Amino acid sequence: MSFLNIQGLSKQWADTRVVEDINFEICEGEFIALLGPSGCGKSTTLKMIAGLETPTAGNVILNGQNITNRTPGQRQLSMVFQSYALFPHLSVKENIVFGLKARKVPVNERNKRLRHAVELVNLGDQINKKPSELSGGQCQRVALARAIVSQAPLCLMDEPLSNLDTKLRNEMRTEIRALQKQLGLTVLYVTHDQVEAMSMADRIILLNAGRIEQMGSPQALYNEPASSFVARFI
Ligand code: ATP
Ligand code: MG
Repeated sequence: MSFLNIQGLSKQWADTRVVEDINFEICEGEFIALLGPSGCGKSTTLKMIAGLETPTAGNVILNGQNITNRTPGQRQLSMVFQSYALFPHLSVKENIVFGLKARKVPVNERNKRLRHAVELVNLGDQINKKPSELSGGQCQRVALARAIVSQAPLCLMDEPLSNLDTKLRNEMRTEIRALQKQLGLTVLYVTHDQVEAMSMADRIILLNAGRIEQMGSPQALYNEPASSFVARFI
C-alpha cells in the first residue's frame, strides 16, 4: 500500500488554476523530489499536503487515512522551509522543542529527543545561542532538528538549501540524505534545481504549469523524457 496517496489535487486562485489534477503515490522511506520551474505550483502543492492551504479539489491520503480536512497539527508530518522559520527571540534549544511543548510532550521525553536530534545534525555546542548568532547552515540544521524531534514519518521540505552557498549546499544534500536513510523518513523535497533533484532523489515528479509532466527515477527522466519540456528541463 502506498504511504502518501495524492488524488486529483487542484488549486485555483480567482480564475487561475495553479495546480491541476495532480495524482501520485509514494512509498514509505522514499525520497521524492518535486521539481519544476518557478511558479509551476510546487509550494502550493506542498502546502496543500501540509494543510496550510485548502485544495479546490482532491484528496490527501496518508497511511490509508484521508487527512484532507485535518488541521496541520493533526497531520503526522513535519515541514522544513527555505526561510528556516525560526523564532528569533528563542534559543536554538527552545526552537527545536517548541512544537513538542505545544503538544505537551513530557519534559524528559523532550530532552531525550532534543539530545538525539542535536547530535544527529551536529549542533552540540550551539544550543543556547539565538538564531541571529548562527550561520545559514546552522539555522538550516536547527530547522532539520525541529523536524526530527517531531518524529513525524513524513517530512515536507521546500527549497531548504537555496539560501546556502554552493559548498555548504553540497554538504547539506549529503547530510539530509544520510539522515533520511538513518531515520527511515519519507521525504517530499521541493526544488527548482534539476542537479539537486537528480543527485538526491529516488524518484522525481516534474511539474510544469500546475501539471505533472513526468514521474520516475532520475535515470528514466534523463534517458526517456516523456516530452520536450522534460528533455529541456533535465
Ligand atoms: P518557486 O519555485 O518560485 O517557489 P512554486 O513552484 O513554488 O515557485 P507556487 O508558489 O506554488 O510556485 O505558486 C504557483 C502559482 O500560484 C504562481 O503563479 C503564484 O503566483 C500563484 N500563487 C501562489 N500563492 C498565491 C496566492 N496566495 N494568491 C494568488 N496566487 C498565488
Ligand atoms: Mg515555491
